Amino acid sequence: MKLADQLHQLTTPTPFQVGSVNAYLIEDNPLTLIDSGLKTPEAEASLRAQLADLGVRFGDIEQIIVTHSHLDHYGLMGKIAAEGRPRVFAHPLEVHDLESLHGYSEEDDLYKRVESFLLKSGLPTESLDSILMRHPIINDLRDPIKVTEMVDDGDVIGLAHKELLVVHCPGHSAGMINLYDAGAKVLFSGDNLLKHISPVPLLNFPRDPSRPRSHSLSEYIATLQRLKTFDIAIVLTGHGEVIYDAVEVIDSIIRHHKVRKDKVLKFLEGFPKTAFDVCKHLFPDITPYQVYLGMSEAVGHLDVLETEGAIGRIEENGMTRFRPL
Ligand SMILES: [Zn+2]
Ligand SMILES: [Zn+2]
Repeated sequence: MKLADQLHQLTTPTPFQVGSVNAYLIEDNPLTLIDSGLKTPEAEASLRAQLADLGVRFGDIEQIIVTHSHLDHYGLMGKIAAEGRPRVFAHPLEVHDLESLHGYSEEDDLYKRVESFLLKSGLPTESLDSILMRHPIINDLRDPIKVTEMVDDGDVIGLAHKELLVVHCPGHSAGMINLYDAGAKVLFSGDNLLKHISPVPLLNFPRDPSRPRSHSLSEYIATLQRLKTFDIAIVLTGHGEVIYDAVEVIDSIIRHHKVRKDKVLKFLEGFPKTAFDVCKHLFPDITPYQVYLGMSEAVGHLDVLETEGAIGRIEENGMTRFRPL
């Protein structure tokens, strides 16, 4: 779909609940692709066809910008890069997952830390088997992609007719970047802002074990507050529709989290509860596939409440429970 002169939205299917995913082609010099879609035969055929309509082949793409290292946004990039020699831009915190040959593995120290955290948070052992990270399909849906240019907040990616300001937007993913075109007042938001979905700030454990776990929800709220200071007319999202009322969407996401935080605090009254108790309370019908998302929400709200001094934790018998203070 043509959005403006030189700017096209390329929508490809995913088998995930979120539906299709959006990539963007900027017909400028250099020819630039933002995100790619998933590595499935359907998505690949769809992306090739949409590009062919514009007279573009994978090998013609000169630079690729990765908003974040989730499969649906970069799965196909390895194939694109293999047909040409594009520069590939991403945030340093996303590089490991983008370049990793095997995705997650049970031998991985990070994997063990996540597992131990989830068990301490009350997750039943059998639920661990169901979480996305252990899903073998993950490696079929992406190829690794070598990042050639690491970019961080404040960097500018220059094209002949526009400049894209890199905005580091931690929250949904620790190294999420958004791209802001000040001239057109356009923000490419990845999964950071979506029209009808409140993006989940996912549990994030740094690879360096000496660094603490990120407080993803707190970081996400700070990201949203910061984006309100940008003059944005159009948000080009990673899934679904274009957003024309960025501030309203941002405010509604912030309100949504405030309501949920109050619900968590109320639930903690009575006896101390684990993050998994909170997860089941927030999402009683959660499927095994969604447990990681649910736990991310639960832990995120507990982080915020604990930082605010509203709740405290009790560590007992290898379990962490929370109660109001
Ligand atoms: Zn994502
Ligand atoms: Zn996504």
